[in-house]
Amino acid sequence: MSQFRLSRRPDIGEKIRVSFEFFPPKTDDMERKLWETVQRLEPLAPQFVSVTYGAGGSTRERTERTVRRILNETSLTPTAHMTCVDAPRSEVDAVIRAFADMGVRRFVALRGDPAEGVGAAYRPHPDGYANGAELVAAMRAIGDFDISVSAYPEKHPESPDFATDIDMLKRKVDNGATRAITQFFFDNDVYERYVERARRAGIYIPIVPGVLPVHNFKQVANFTSRCGTHVPAWLAERFEGLDNDPQTHALVASAVAAEQVLDLVERGVGDFHFYTMNRADLAVAICHMIGIRAQPVAASMAAPNAA
Ligand code: FAD
Repeated sequence: MSQFRLSRRPDIGEKIRVSFEFFPPKTDDMERKLWETVQRLEPLAPQFVSVTYGAGGSTRERTERTVRRILNETSLTPTAHMTCVDAPRSEVDAVIRAFADMGVRRFVALRGDPAEGVGAAYRPHPDGYANGAELVAAMRAIGDFDISVSAYPEKHPESPDFATDIDMLKRKVDNGATRAITQFFFDNDVYERYVERARRAGIYIPIVPGVLPVHNFKQVANFTSRCGTHVPAWLAERFEGLDNDPQTHALVASAVAAEQVLDLVERGVGDFHFYTMNRADLAVAICHMIGIRAQPVAASMAAPNAA
């Protein structure tokens, strides 16, 4: 992708479905900001919104609380992320059941990263699930859920090669995954090649591109080196000199993400997952550019047994 290609098809928004990812807030202030974001994104009628899950009990509780609030106070369909980190199977199964009792029907099943952070060697809990594929199987055994899994267009940093990486995705699909959501990427050719590889391996579930609007290029550049995403030189050039110019940075970020998404639309992609970082502005702008318009918000549908 090197050029700006603006699609002008008037019906473009009708074909496109979006989902939004949030992380559970740690403080009251973060909670208030997340809620403003949720309220701004709700009228865009996403297919679902997902809430990430961290290692350790405290983040698990925050994920549960955020998912419960989405269920109780909005018309949105929540998806709960879950990982296998530092927990025996019995505990993971209990969390799946607790979410199901709350009214959750959608999950993102992940292995997760070690508590020491990305890059440290992953050691499964002795009685735990070893990877995303095992967690998918556990969820399938518990209920008829919609189960998303991760996919890595530039391969997971721990995968020695693409064959191993695709093989792991295949195991997740064979165990019952219904959709893959990709790690963010900036080069659409890389995504297209990965989807082709997956199709050749007999993987036919949707592989939904995960799009990261670049709220802070410096932070993104730091993180990419750890998660295996390549930052193309042209992207670094676009943000060069904008560290202390937030307005221009935001305008450039919006243009960059719209360019990426519109190019993917032209390649036939219809579903997008946005890593919102709990911020609405860029996601709203990009959705607008792909033709998604605010809908009247339906009355909240609280789960019958929600607190
Ligand atoms: P898996 O798919 O289980 O494995 C990843 C790779 O490890 C495989 O491709 C394979 O190469 C290797 N591997 C694992 N097991 C084996 C094996 N037995 N044999 C050979 N190779 C193996 N992290 C969080 O902590 N919380 C979140 O909410 C969260 N949400 C995410 C959402 C998305 C859409 C994505 C893409 C990532 C998310 N992550 C999250 C990050 C994720 O936890 C990390 O990338 C983690 O390092 C791998 O988890 P996974 O489920 O992708 O692993």
